[in-house]
Amino acid sequence: RPLERDAKIYVAGHRGLVGSAIWRKLEAEGFTNIVGRTSAELDLKDRVAVFEFFAREKPRYVVLAAAKVGGILANNTYPVDFLSENLQIQLNTMDAALEHGVERLLFLGSSCIYPKLAPQPLKEEYLLTGHLEPTNDAYAIAKIAGILQVQAVRRQYGKAWISAMPTNLYGPGDNFSPTGSHVLPALIRRYDEAVQDGVDTVVNWGTGSPLREFLHVNDMASACLFLLENYDGPEQVNVGVGTDVSIREVAEIVAAAVGYTGAIEWDASKPDGTPRKLMDVSRLTEAGWKAQIGLREGIEETVAWFRAHRDSFR
Ligand code: GDP
Repeated sequence: RPLERDAKIYVAGHRGLVGSAIWRKLEAEGFTNIVGRTSAELDLKDRVAVFEFFAREKPRYVVLAAAKVGGILANNTYPVDFLSENLQIQLNTMDAALEHGVERLLFLGSSCIYPKLAPQPLKEEYLLTGHLEPTNDAYAIAKIAGILQVQAVRRQYGKAWISAMPTNLYGPGDNFSPTGSHVLPALIRRYDEAVQDGVDTVVNWGTGSPLREFLHVNDMASACLFLLENYDGPEQVNVGVGTDVSIREVAEIVAAAVGYTGAIEWDASKPDGTPRKLMDVSRLTEAGWKAQIGLREGIEETVAWFRAHRDSFR
């Protein structure tokens, strides 16, 4: 069922990588009543404030793209922050959304919810079949609780709420912090700075052998709207491109995109994380959606965006 273009839709986390892309997509698709609040305006960890916000705004639809996110080092170093903040954000938002009659809600998670050693590609049904990757187990447990909350609300109240699990996302508006970011923005920044500063050796984390799948955030936004309009089931849906690359290959693509020609070294004292996490995206492709933006093209576009905004990251 299509979403009504003039009904109020709240994008939680609309300043983030995913939320801002969803906002742009909704605008482009003719939505006229999109609502967002910065974390300074509305702290989603503040339960009273969240309930007041929903009582006042009464959104009909919600996209829950607000989360505390970070790369492997941040997740590994601050597990209690990732567990506690994500549980609070999603619990408050979904409880208030239920209380105030939100008709359709999309909860966003991550591919790290699947067991570390699950068969690849990762099918939706592998959820809760094994142990998690320890570098991001706290974040994963919070996201698994969110999936369960969506399922419970469906079962107990019959609401058309759904969950989607994107693979590693990247694109304009990403977090480019050297210690907090995910691998792609980290590499873009490192290699760009090496070119700027005339450095001829860069050192990346881990061995370079792990395999990862990368989805451009504009594709993610398009998948989110597609799911809200075409999917209504209790199981989370994977969102990805269906193919993966090694971190070493990614490093080479980024080097080429920024024009870095120096040496690439690896620091194996930093964690590799899970060896591989390729999503099985057949459920989504069978429903009729497919990613459009290739990795090289997406990285080149993100490099251009980073360069246009470089001064704000220095
Ligand atoms: P993950 O997918 O949850 O493991 O998260 P990341 O995107 O942070 O890391 C993916 C892979 O890239 C891991 O194997 C990292 O060791 C590797 N990697 C290489 N260099 C970097 C870097 O500078 N930053 C980050 N975050 N990861 C890096």
